[in-house]
Amino acid sequence: MGERAGNARGPAGPGGARPFSGRVALVTGSTDGIGLATARRLAAEGCAVMLNGLGEPAAIAALVAEIAAAHGTEVAHAAADLRDEAAASGLVAQVLQRFGRLDILVNNAGTQHKGPIEDHPPARWREVFALNVDAAFHTIRTALPGMRERGFGRIVNIASVYGLVGGVERSSYVASKHALVGLTKAVALETAATAITCNAVCPGDVATRIYYRNAKLMAEREGISREEAQRRIAATNMPSGNVVAPEQVAALVAWLGSEAAAEMRGAALPLDGAWVAR
Ligand code: NAD
Repeated sequence: MGERAGNARGPAGPGGARPFSGRVALVTGSTDGIGLATARRLAAEGCAVMLNGLGEPAAIAALVAEIAAAHGTEVAHAAADLRDEAAASGLVAQVLQRFGRLDILVNNAGTQHKGPIEDHPPARWREVFALNVDAAFHTIRTALPGMRERGFGRIVNIASVYGLVGGVERSSYVASKHALVGLTKAVALETAATAITCNAVCPGDVATRIYYRNAKLMAEREGISREEAQRRIAATNMPSGNVVAPEQVAALVAWLGSEAAAEMRGAALPLDGAWVAR
């Protein structure tokens, strides 16, 4: 286990406690992007959070301290590389060792490979599945016994619109995200008679680091402004013409973690500017 920080202080919500006070969350792949926005949101709602993800140890330590200080909640980081089966299988144990429980599991870490299927390196195919599907299998199977024991659990899998529709030159991504949606439904049915839910979120294009990098490259290549490049990228797939903000994905995850979502089970929820509505 890596860095940790935290204290018991924190602003109280309207009822004297924040919605997730006393809860513990694990967000995989949360040192950047959607995972980081989700970790911040859950911490803001009072959750203790185990971060996971790659990065420079000093930068991660600073992130842990920053989130803990901003939200007055316990934050730690587990440095498991989830392509590795043993690491993925052991991640929940690290959370239980550090926090004693796990209430909200967000399987967010993911990767993709672009290119025609004829050229897709088989080793890379295995890697995409290891991170996008197998890691979620391992965290779910190891988290469920404790959730069943305590009679509460929220599992949210970050899939993609590519878990609902196809796409060109991203075969392993499409196949793995469909598999993650299938896993979501299977787990939702196995837990349907309990207070444990399992759902998937299916974002369209999200404004993470890679989106801004692609826009910068397009702007340089085509001699247009960065804003125009961002607009063109957004309009490529999204009928709305807007990319999704990581914080919007985080807000949906937080809702799925809430009491209000207790009977939302086995859903694959698009958050995609009407991409899959066409
Ligand atoms: P990102 O690249 O911004 O961040 C990925 C995070 O995962 C980082 O914290 C990174 O360190 C971590 N990570 C990478 N490899 C890892 C590994 N082997 N083990 C553990 N952690 C690892 O990613 P993002 O764009 O925020 O995407 C997050 C999830 O959302 C992914 O599953 C992705 O498929 C899905 N998604 C993203 C978009 C998008 O447009 N960004 C759209 C739909 C779905």
